[in-house]
Amino acid sequence: MEAAVRTAMSTVSRSPGVCARCAVLSGSCCTLVPGQEDLCFPLSDVEMDRIRDIAGARGWFVQEPNSASFVHHLDRLFPGEEEQIRILFPLRRHHFRLATGPDGRCALLGENGCTLPVEARPYYCRLFPVWLSGEKLFVLAGQCLAVKEATGTARLLDSVNLSRPAARDMHARLRLAWGLPPRPEMPNVTLRLQRNPQ
Ligand code: SF4
Ligand code: SF4
Repeated sequence: MEAAVRTAMSTVSRSPGVCARCAVLSGSCCTLVPGQEDLCFPLSDVEMDRIRDIAGARGWFVQEPNSASFVHHLDRLFPGEEEQIRILFPLRRHHFRLATGPDGRCALLGENGCTLPVEARPYYCRLFPVWLSGEKLFVLAGQCLAVKEATGTARLLDSVNLSRPAARDMHARLRLAWGLPPRPEMPNVTLRLQRNPQ
């Protein structure tokens, strides 16, 4: 997990392709640096429900205090929305994140990548290694194998099975799931809070 909310985040085996190779080589962005688990991205109820539906209710999540560094990383992801971030993630309260082992690997990471189907993965995982700020799409991770191999954003998106519209859509859903308000430039998405596959 790299970059901003140091995100156990990703995509492994959106594959076959670069993410599957990455998982074999390095554990990929689905591995946190031990000791920095508090920087993992937060999970919404709808995201956890989807995972429970697929993988059962077995210890996939842990409660994590909203540390100052966690909130600071969220500030970097959502510049100009610091006030809202502090309402959603006040210090001395908690959020849920993906459980990780002593080596930092996500509990849902298997030998060949993520054990979840793509549609059940957290939004952040499905977006990584890209992010959006307004309508601008940018790359989050310097250590991502897909980023290293791709020559240009279009090829990068292609290699992780994303498109610009899909990334915008996913980012909009993530915002709503995490409790952030819609923005004018966002695609018109709704979050059905039942366990739907979007
Ligand atoms: S290539 Fe990038 S997005 Fe894919 S698993 Fe590796 S770090 Fe994650
Ligand atoms: S849920 Fe899957 S894609 Fe997300 S960090 Fe865990 S193993 Fe990686």
